Amino acid sequence: MRQNLHTHSTWCDGKNTTREMAEAAVEKGFDVLGFSGHACVPSWDGSMSVDDTRAYVREVLELKEEFKDRLAVYLGIEADTENRLLFKEPFKFVIGSCHSLAHEGVRLAVDYNRGISEFMLENWYRNDYRIFVREYFREVLKMKDWDEVDIVGHIDLITKFNEDESFFRFDDPFYVKEATDAIDAFAGRKILEVNTGAIARGYRTSPYPAKNLLQYMKEKNVRILLSSDCHNARDLDCFFPEALELIRSCGYTSMAVFDGKEFRDTDIREFR
Ligand SMILES: [Zn+2]
Ligand SMILES: [Zn+2]
Repeated sequence: MRQNLHTHSTWCDGKNTTREMAEAAVEKGFDVLGFSGHACVPSWDGSMSVDDTRAYVREVLELKEEFKDRLAVYLGIEADTENRLLFKEPFKFVIGSCHSLAHEGVRLAVDYNRGISEFMLENWYRNDYRIFVREYFREVLKMKDWDEVDIVGHIDLITKFNEDESFFRFDDPFYVKEATDAIDAFAGRKILEVNTGAIARGYRTSPYPAKNLLQYMKEKNVRILLSSDCHNARDLDCFFPEALELIRSCGYTSMAVFDGKEFRDTDIREFR
């Protein structure tokens, strides 16, 4: 089994067309490919406009039909905490993600570059990383009761530029408490993803979430799936073998696979 439900194409900020992504998925031996274009966030041109979203839906549904004998293609979307999706149809699955924080009417991305994170820390949060962390997880937790969200994307995205732990330590008790409280709130309600996206882009050497959080998720029986959040076809399976090994080492024996209607727990030994 090979599945990736978190992929971006030229309809949003990806480099390859949906067709190129589907062809690469077949070549790489994928069984399931989900498209998760960025849902419209008016302030960000990397997201899909309303018109683009209509065209994206049409194109993915055509591809789904065309590839049906080789690959299960599903129409999804990556919704943003900044702009809640008001309806789920026609999307078969929704990834909910926090990419930015607001302060006094201004919104800034937490995942754009290190300088912006430093600016927020200094100017918004009085150089107190705890406020930054608390505000981040407060934004993430907006999705707790959002029924349209199936999967919570990259739950610890706030650590994107923290590989060197210069903002805070990964095992910092305050940080771990905030992160595990968020995991508790999603346990039993949402699937969390193991996301290798920052590795392909050279920001990180391990997936989201960090291993200590993944171990905690296992203890709490939080369902997971593996995705690469890729913005090009080459990275469809970026770091998948290593991530699988990590997931196994945390004690997971199954991951969720989407069948077009629901997420089925599938034996980890079936994945490669
Ligand atoms: Zn995202
Ligand atoms: Zn994404």
